[in-house]
Parts: sequence; C-alpha cells; structure tokens
Amino acid sequence: MIEFRSDTFTLPTPRMMEAIQNATLGDDVYGEDPTVRALEEETALILGKEAAILMPSGTMANLSSIMAHCPRGSKILVGDESDIYIYEAAGASVCGGIMYEKIPTMLDGTLRIQDLEEVFPKDMDDPQFAIPSLICIENTHNRMGGRVLPLSYLEELKLFSVDKNIPVHMDGARLFNAAISLGVEPKVITEYADTVQICLSKGLSSPIGSMVAGSKEFINKVYRIRKMLGGGMRQAGIIAAPGLIALEESIRRLTVDHEHARLLAEGLANIPGVIIDIENVETNIVFFRIDPSKLTTDTFIKEAHGRGLNLAELGTDRIRVVTHSGINSTDVEKTLKIIHSILAG
Ligand SMILES: *Cc1c(COP(=O)(O)O)cnc(C)c1O
Repeated sequence: MIEFRSDTFTLPTPRMMEAIQNATLGDDVYGEDPTVRALEEETALILGKEAAILMPSGTMANLSSIMAHCPRGSKILVGDESDIYIYEAAGASVCGGIMYEKIPTMLDGTLRIQDLEEVFPKDMDDPQFAIPSLICIENTHNRMGGRVLPLSYLEELKLFSVDKNIPVHMDGARLFNAAISLGVEPKVITEYADTVQICLSKGLSSPIGSMVAGSKEFINKVYRIRKMLGGGMRQAGIIAAPGLIALEESIRRLTVDHEHARLLAEGLANIPGVIIDIENVETNIVFFRIDPSKLTTDTFIKEAHGRGLNLAELGTDRIRVVTHSGINSTDVEKTLKIIHSILAG
C-alpha cells in the first residue's frame, strides 16, 4: 500500500530505533532526563529562541502555548482554516476560557492585516469586549495545501503585532518544510514569531513529539501548563533520542518530499479528469479534485484503495496527498499510472 494520507505515517528510521535503545534516561518530571535536555537545547538553538520544551503532541504544544500567552476571557485571532481552529477540539475554550476569533484564511495561508485589525475593539478599555491576546499563524499551511508564508508577510505581521502589543504564535507543525522551500535557516522564519510549535512526528519521521520554543519566561509557564494537562513524562528520553536525530538528519531529506510532490502534481495535471492547480504546490502537500462527471470522490478513493493507494478526502471533494520518507520516486510513477487507469476505465 502506498500511503498518502499523511506524513504522520512515517516510521522511525533504523538509526532512530538504535538511538531509542541506547538513550541515556532519567525522570523528566524531576528534570533529570539528559536526552530531553539535549533535545530542548538543540531545538532552542535551531529555532533561535532562548528555550524550548518537549511536548507529547502538536495539539498540546499549541494549547499550552495559547494558555501561557492568554488570560481567561481574552480572545485569540486564528485562521478559519487553521489546525488550531479546526482540529484541536476547542481546547483553548475548554481548558483556557479563551474565545476563538476566526479570521478568513487567504489562499496563500496568510491572514490579512486589515482583517486582523478589524477585530480589535476601538476602545480596549470598554469592558464589554474580549481583549485580543494572541495571533496564531500556521506555517506551512496544511489546509491551504502546504503553502509557505512569505517572509515579507511575516515581517509585516510582526510590525503590526508590535504596534498592537500582542504576541504571535506560529503553529509550525511543518516549519522545516517552509525553511527548505525558502532555502533559509529555520530561525530566519521563527524570528518573526514570539513563540513556535514544531512537530517531530510528521515529515521528520520521529515517532512521537512536538517542541515549543520561546523566551525562558514563556517556556517556564508552558512547563507548568504541560504538567497540568497531563503532559509531564518520565523517561521521555526515548522520545527525545529519535527527536535529536530528526533535527540532525531528517530536515535535509524534506527536499526529496518536495520534489516528489511536484512530480505528482505535474503528472496529475496531465491526467484527464483530474482538477489541480499546480502553482499552489510548494512543499509536500498536493490537493486535487476529480471531475464529478467522471467519478465521485468517494468512488475514486475506493478504487484507488483497491489498487494500492491510500488516499483521503480533506474538505468536501478535495483529496489531499502528502509525500514523506515512505514514498519514493517509483511509488510516484506507480501512483500516476494507477490514477490514470482509474479515470480511463
Ligand atoms: C499535525 C498538526 C498539528 C497537531 O499535531 P498533533 O501532534 O497531531 O497533535 C498542529 N498543527 C498543524 C498545522 C498540524 O499539521
């Protein structure tokens, strides 16, 4: 089966499995796991922040960050197509007493400054309004097709946020895909956000884990919230050990995923019955549709499954294909042949 549903299906590499076996461990709730410490230091360095902390998941990383930034009764500005808004079970409302103010997401994954500006109360002292306490952005943007936020946009957003005295949190589940695509060091991107969340468990092939990075003071707050949410982990070095290898080895490899995504997109564009905009393909995510006069999306996905392709619908009648370390160039060729034959038959 060729697995296209997500880059979370990546399995740890042999070197990662070996590192798990050999990791030096301690109780991290006591702050005594040296492998976790090493991963946190390395992450802070790579992301250009004072400190970082290991989290069990991206969802908890975002939630803890939001709760560390925002008082109860305040509101966060989030994209209407963002993971935080759509896929994280309203955690900020449930656990933090925080309101989501949803902002329209542009096709390139950005939130327009003008739209952000509009949800700030004219009089911030008027007690009837929830006070905006955080802007959340997503980079790369999953539901917009793995789009990379332009650096010029991030700079503009940063100026706006400084002017409004409000922090910016970057959901960088696929931040390294953005860095590879732009050809810059990750910290060139994270410089424009006060805090950032990255996933080790997606294209980087680590089995578990996310990291939050920010100022020392901020990470101390996240540390407390992580414990409260049940995310304090004991011998977490078994997670941190493959995480270190992810940072050391897997980032470079993402280039290959991007090449495969481009090959797939270009091939799909040549298949009659596939509707795709290849201009939008910048990283490891490809969206396409099936001409409804040929086949329904459901039937197409079932047919594909029967021939060895695991595909998933993401958004009505949109198919998302994600490339990752489990997919090679032969798989890409096979996939195009299979899709061609389904639509020809
Ligand atoms: C996967 C993902 C998350 C959440 O990560 P989990 O580890 O699955 O909780 C957050 N944001 C984005 C953009 C993601 O793609």
